Amino acid sequence: MDPRVEKFMAQIVAKNANEKEFHQAVQEVAESLIPYIEENPKYKHAKVLERIAEPERVILFRVPWIDDKGEIQINKGYRIEMNSAIGPYKGGLRFHPTVNLSILKFLAFEQVLKNSLTTLPMGGGKGGSDFDPKGKSDNEVMRFCQSFMTELCKHIGANTDIPAGDIGVGGREIGYMFGQYKRIRNEFVGVLTGKGRQYGGSLIRPEATGYGAVYFAEEMLKTRGDSFKGKIVTVSGSGNVAQFATEKVNQLGGKVVTVSDSAGFIHDPNGIDAEKLAYVMELKNVKRGRIKEYADKYGCEYYEGKRPWEIKCDVALPCATQNELNEEEAKTLIANGCFVVSEGANMPSTPEAVELYIKHKILYGPGKAANAGGVAVSGLEMSQNSLRLSWTREEVDQRLHQIMKDIHATCETYGKESDGFINYVNGANIGGFVKVAEAMLAQGAV
Ligand code: GLU
Repeated sequence: MDPRVEKFMAQIVAKNANEKEFHQAVQEVAESLIPYIEENPKYKHAKVLERIAEPERVILFRVPWIDDKGEIQINKGYRIEMNSAIGPYKGGLRFHPTVNLSILKFLAFEQVLKNSLTTLPMGGGKGGSDFDPKGKSDNEVMRFCQSFMTELCKHIGANTDIPAGDIGVGGREIGYMFGQYKRIRNEFVGVLTGKGRQYGGSLIRPEATGYGAVYFAEEMLKTRGDSFKGKIVTVSGSGNVAQFATEKVNQLGGKVVTVSDSAGFIHDPNGIDAEKLAYVMELKNVKRGRIKEYADKYGCEYYEGKRPWEIKCDVALPCATQNELNEEEAKTLIANGCFVVSEGANMPSTPEAVELYIKHKILYGPGKAANAGGVAVSGLEMSQNSLRLSWTREEVDQRLHQIMKDIHATCETYGKESDGFINYVNGANIGGFVKVAEAMLAQGAV
């Protein structure tokens, strides 16, 4: 490791003990930024890197709620307000039993640079709870969301901090939280994004992260004169991001052969076409069932307890969760001829996997660039709420597409190496950093 990175990381680890995901996210960024900062000493003197690694504010609270049996349950609630240099805090809420301070701080840290890359005026934040929506009734989810918002509403606002969805938080949860915010604060404002269409949501917000990750991959393919036509694509996950990534790949002429959930993955060599995708959407969004049922219905292979990276493909789209693709799996992907990885999830590849992508010079789009389409359309939802207007599907999709092209161009500007190879990791980290750093310099020691 570069000794300068080592020294910086020693401080981060000492100050944030036992937060391994946070260390991982910061180290990846530090490896890109420290050499850049050495060449641009104004950022060094102002300690911008040290400052962006410390949240502006961390809010921790108790979330008590009553389950269907009448028993009191207690969960933890969090909101990390990471950086507001270029706009109000913005970022999703995650409800999952693995949620802890380390995971939310890594996500909030990534969000700062991601939001900057979108070109929209949004700072970075993240929040959530260790509440597990799996197996809970609608009423339990509603009571939990109401209790969560009863406390959270004291800290957020349409000009302060605007949460949205992430794992375990979709349209249903946003609706319950919006209702509670409005009731307590007595104001109808765009304090959350990912809202339903009837009460201020934007068209294309559900599609945005998945579509965006595919648009980004398409831009990467174009740099080699290639396209999605005829490509075999492996997707992990089967939630919102995976579903709409699959839809967009189909539209562009590729073939998606896998989707997964936490229990295993299905391999459908014939491709998950529009009809089968509609089945996945119904299964996951309405019936809230397991992906194994797909294999039973369509008579294809189901791999219990496994991840899809052993399947031969040209393009891999990790759309499930952090650290879901390790060194061994990256080796297998590359040995099987995969040459594009575009991350729909946040930090799905381990550092060792990323090192292999770069070594083999494949087209690798890290999450903070490739999955920025979700928060970008959240930003467009905020604009529409402020205007009290709503744009058409075509208009939002066209803006999303342009934003993904712009993010790709930024990565190219900051990540192109002397032999023409685009290092998208450096490109995204430096490209995201510069805007935030300049704003922080202008605002003084805050
Ligand atoms: N959770 C999403 C992300 O990781 C979206 C956040 C948002 O829309 O605010 O970027």
